[in-house]
Amino acid sequence: MDTTMSEVVQFIQENDVKFIRLAFCDIFGNQKNIAIMPTELERAFEQGIHFNAAALRGFLNVDASDLLLFPDPATLSVLPWRPAQGRVVRFYCDIRYPDGTPFEGDGRHLLREANRRARRAGYSLTMGTASEFYLFELDENGHPTTIPHDHGEYFDVAPLDKAENVRRQICLTLEEMNIQPESSHHEQGPGQNEVDFRYAEALEAADNFVTFKWVVKSMASSSGLFASFLPKPLPHAPGSGLHLSVSINKNGKNLFQPSFEESAEGQSFVAGILQRAAEMTIFCNPLTNSFQRLGEFEAPKYITWSHQNRCPLITVPLTGDHSANRMKLRAFDGCINPYIVFALLIHAGLDGIEQGLPLPPACDENLFTASNEVRTRYEALPGALCDAIRIAKDSDFITKYLPEKARTAFFAAKQAEHDRIVLADDRTAAERSLYFE
Ligand code: GLU
Ligand code: MG
Repeated sequence: MDTTMSEVVQFIQENDVKFIRLAFCDIFGNQKNIAIMPTELERAFEQGIHFNAAALRGFLNVDASDLLLFPDPATLSVLPWRPAQGRVVRFYCDIRYPDGTPFEGDGRHLLREANRRARRAGYSLTMGTASEFYLFELDENGHPTTIPHDHGEYFDVAPLDKAENVRRQICLTLEEMNIQPESSHHEQGPGQNEVDFRYAEALEAADNFVTFKWVVKSMASSSGLFASFLPKPLPHAPGSGLHLSVSINKNGKNLFQPSFEESAEGQSFVAGILQRAAEMTIFCNPLTNSFQRLGEFEAPKYITWSHQNRCPLITVPLTGDHSANRMKLRAFDGCINPYIVFALLIHAGLDGIEQGLPLPPACDENLFTASNEVRTRYEALPGALCDAIRIAKDSDFITKYLPEKARTAFFAAKQAEHDRIVLADDRTAAERSLYFE
């Protein structure tokens, strides 16, 4: 929907809207917002709304602390869980300096740039996220525990599955926000769930993922539960992944059609992402906890691709007519900044096409059960946060596509996180206090 400012102003006037949330993400992907009153909306569109960036972690310690939020009219959405009278709506915002320059830490800006590059070369991308999460009980003080809400397993039904009503609420709320849910189920872990929704153009898909997490957390909370997207909240149970489907069109035609095998550009796009997978890991698996998930319970670890196998980083699934129309990336987790990750993916894939990069042979072995001898034939993702930081710091690719300020702040924060957890006497407790809530 391409909404103009005047349509938005009319909607606000006609729908009893009393609060307008201006939302955005810090560089770690954490959502923040400020509420303005409807009287301020036109000013927001024209001049932006000031905020004190120095007070926000992940805002690059900007020397001039004033930044401005400019609401993107296309992202208008009612928050259905807020009162129906005196409604609350939300916009995602672009972030700029007072002189109008885009802020280097604004992921939406980085993703727009990547999209522009793709469009200039004739490509357009759509993305769909499928994200798993755990539902945990609260204690008597309302604080989250690590006690799973149920002991259901994959695809279970009630009464083993106790989350059917929460998933129902999540789907209905997403629908009201014009994010079309497609399916929902109990996942393999106790208290683990998944809700999948429709793909969209890359920027909208990133906005939708941020909204999705907000909806899941809000619906869980209104049911007296805590929803966690932590990649590995329970040490001996399945982790929670974020699986990303990516389709690429060139001049309106799917790049993987009529067949992936015949599409040199499609193959180079995949090869480009594989080439940069290790360098991007710090953004795709950004917590010390992320690395406990990879390599077990169907979470990939090796930098490989395949058509049908669940082990590799990338699958190019074949449809009924044995053709492929999308790729699926299985390594990410739900704690990413989706704007930065999607932007890097687009650049990596386009670099692959520009370089005419050949695709390595598919890996059809089960690397979860294969011998060490077989596994060592394949390159693995970095095994720990500190390795991922080091590889990204040394990467010309990351240096080229991520502004210096954003890089430096991101790496410094991740290194501090790593040191704090690794030096702690009780690493699990340290991770929990840093990441869980
Ligand atoms: N939970 C697994 C992961 O961490 C994925 C299971 C699935 O494919 O649904 O990625
Ligand atoms: Mg799943």
